[in-house]
Amino acid sequence: MKPRVKTKKIYVGKIAVGGDSPISVQSMTYSKTEDVKTTVEQINRLHFAGADIVRVAVPDYADAKALKEIREQTSIPIIADIHFNYKLALIASEFVDGIRINPGNIGSRERVREVVKACQDRKLPIRIGVNAGSLEKEFENRYGATAEGMVASADYNIKYLEDLGFTDIKISMKASDVQRTVDAYRQLRSMNNYPFHLGVTEAGTKFHGTIKSAIGLGSLLLDGIGDTLRISITGELEEEIKVGRAILKDSGRVKDGINIISCPTCGRLEADLVKAVDEVERRTKDIKKSMNISVMGCVVNAIGEAKHSDVAIAYGKGKGLIMVKGEVVANLDEHNLVDRFIEEVYKFEESK
Ligand code: SF4
Repeated sequence: MKPRVKTKKIYVGKIAVGGDSPISVQSMTYSKTEDVKTTVEQINRLHFAGADIVRVAVPDYADAKALKEIREQTSIPIIADIHFNYKLALIASEFVDGIRINPGNIGSRERVREVVKACQDRKLPIRIGVNAGSLEKEFENRYGATAEGMVASADYNIKYLEDLGFTDIKISMKASDVQRTVDAYRQLRSMNNYPFHLGVTEAGTKFHGTIKSAIGLGSLLLDGIGDTLRISITGELEEEIKVGRAILKDSGRVKDGINIISCPTCGRLEADLVKAVDEVERRTKDIKKSMNISVMGCVVNAIGEAKHSDVAIAYGKGKGLIMVKGEVVANLDEHNLVDRFIEEVYKFEESK
């Protein structure tokens, strides 16, 4: 795996983004932000699910003003997402930890300048959030809604902020298809050292959103690109965090937690492996230490996998083996296997 690209470290409240800081996972509420009670509930749900940063939409003055109360009732860093009306960014900047603007639709240069000044005064970072669907006219006319157009827009806006003496910047360049998104991030990576917020936008349902995000963000993360990410799924709040964390884990950028190796099953299977793996996943999901465990349906590949696993099960006809670091520690009736396996997993965790 390529080493992670070294970027500038900035801070969204207490969360560091870029540099050597962990890659953070963020998401967004879907409530009307002016509905303080529901918005606070959703922010807390995301926080509890493992989000590091939460973004809220601020389409109106009532939303911007509600941020004061929301701030008082939450502790996770909050980013205000602003389109079209720069004055909302000015109000929001008093209560949040960062501002996201899409320079293509925020208005004149003078308005961007005012937003920058407010953020400078309060030491807030700005995310330049380029979206293929809303490029500035000049870039759309020249390049169309392409990766090149997104890169040109991002580069132009970075330089504009730099000219104002502002460098607490992170950048996203999102398109609804994977290839354009990946191309844009890859092209821009060699042009500056600002942290990148990764995401495939409007990625769709739980199923397709997960796949598109895994391909797109996974490709970039394997290249060492990415400092924070948001998964876009039409679905429940917690799902985006779960998928984001899984992509970080499975791309190897996060070592902590359980990695489950399980076979796809075939005609040699002698047990209800699907049920067993579900149960193992549920009962080990809170383990924080880095561990590999394998749950295999027969001995064909189980012994080989067990050699690379910390704790392993190999099912056989009505019974099975449990191995720790490749050594058999139990040979049990299949009904007792999962309980003993979990016991060994927690024992191993304690010993690490
Ligand atoms: Fe089939 Fe055994 Fe391989 Fe599972 S481990 S897929 S049951 S051969």
